[in-house]
Amino acid sequence: MSSELICFNPACRSRYAITDVLYNCPRCGGLLEADFDRAGIDAAALKSLWRSRRTLNSKLDQSGVWRYRELIPFLDDTSCVVSLREGNTPLLDGPRAASYAGVDRIVFKHQGFNPTGSFKDNGMTCGASQAVRLGMRRVACVSTGNTSASMAAYASAAGLQPIIFIPHGNISYGKLAQALEYGARTFQVEANFDQILALVRVLAERLGIYLLNSINPFRIEGQKSIIFEMMDQRDWNPPDWIVLPGGNLGNTSAFGKALRELHSLGFINRMPRLAVIQASGASPFFELWQAADHTRLSAVGHPETLATAIKIGDPVSWPKALHEVERTRGTVEKVTEQEIADAKAQIGRCGIGCEPASAATLAGVCKLRAAGVIAPDADIVAVLTGNVLKDPDYIYRYHTKQLDAPDGTRLNSTFANQPVVVANDPDRIATLLED
Ligand SMILES: *Cc1c(COP(=O)(O)O)cnc(C)c1O
Ligand SMILES: [Zn+2]
Repeated sequence: MSSELICFNPACRSRYAITDVLYNCPRCGGLLEADFDRAGIDAAALKSLWRSRRTLNSKLDQSGVWRYRELIPFLDDTSCVVSLREGNTPLLDGPRAASYAGVDRIVFKHQGFNPTGSFKDNGMTCGASQAVRLGMRRVACVSTGNTSASMAAYASAAGLQPIIFIPHGNISYGKLAQALEYGARTFQVEANFDQILALVRVLAERLGIYLLNSINPFRIEGQKSIIFEMMDQRDWNPPDWIVLPGGNLGNTSAFGKALRELHSLGFINRMPRLAVIQASGASPFFELWQAADHTRLSAVGHPETLATAIKIGDPVSWPKALHEVERTRGTVEKVTEQEIADAKAQIGRCGIGCEPASAATLAGVCKLRAAGVIAPDADIVAVLTGNVLKDPDYIYRYHTKQLDAPDGTRLNSTFANQPVVVANDPDRIATLLED
């Protein structure tokens, strides 16, 4: 099956070889996406083939990404695949979260069960495999977060050298710790995110380093598998709503592309609606969605949110994401720091847990239910993007009533669960437990 890169800009649509090392369209600067020949795809046959692969022990079949390789066909030879058995993430019922949001039922697709604890692994297995295919020896990204952790793991697993660039003094310790442990060379540069991105592009060109930043079209291809696996787990019955947090909007782009492909190839008979939730201090996509003409995104100069995974002022994938939200008749909402913090505690009380950015989903469902956009009996899947242990500092502060918003105001710890210091005294402890 043949694949190509195609420019996403409808006025351009230039095509390039799948093995060209490109990050944007050389003609117009537009985003690129992988396109493939759909001839001969038989939905019924693939559904049963994919189901049968769940019982097999080979690397590709055990991966929750490569199990669906017929719809991620950019490699002509799968011997270059690097897999840590990513994907395979569960659908979990959250009854307590549902009643919190005022809906009958909510199901979480928990991407925090991935090898490095976030959905970035679904994409990184593809990006790293493409780097191997291209004969690259070094890969790089600019990120202090889950992308670094994931890239470091997949590059090292593939025998590539991972190189991470982070703005000096802007470090997220939990995620940085993973990158260091997985062997990434880490540079803290005295410049801001955008300046470093420009620097890294120069270095990538000069030194032949492959960039695995969030517009990498192969990462987007891999993230489509979140939707493929979700639909497979639901026996191909699409929900009414798929709710996800939006930062750089790569995941929104991937979900929309996956849904379009499944729908046009006959795997599903209707399109679920995408609801993208942003933090109010970093909500340029929400502002764009509110604007009457939907034409141009205005970047937020100083994005602020404790949900660091979605602390993005200038989301690179917005043109794709806008197209996908429109195509699914979806919506975009924003939520406050307080709403995220309380929703997160509710997800925790379900026995599920997630990192702050992921909790924007439940906060968003609350808001969309209250506004009458989501019906109380809607069939809802909320995608939890990252693991609860990514940000333990946030959790400890919330439960001990010390969590401050970026503007310095103390947040209410509405559902605080404080540890109790107590003497070594059984009578005293028994009394406390009887309360
Ligand atoms: C990267 C990330 C996001 C944001 O995803 P985008 O594709 O950038 O919109 C949200 N949550 C977590 C945990 C992430 O790691
Ligand atoms: Zn173009």
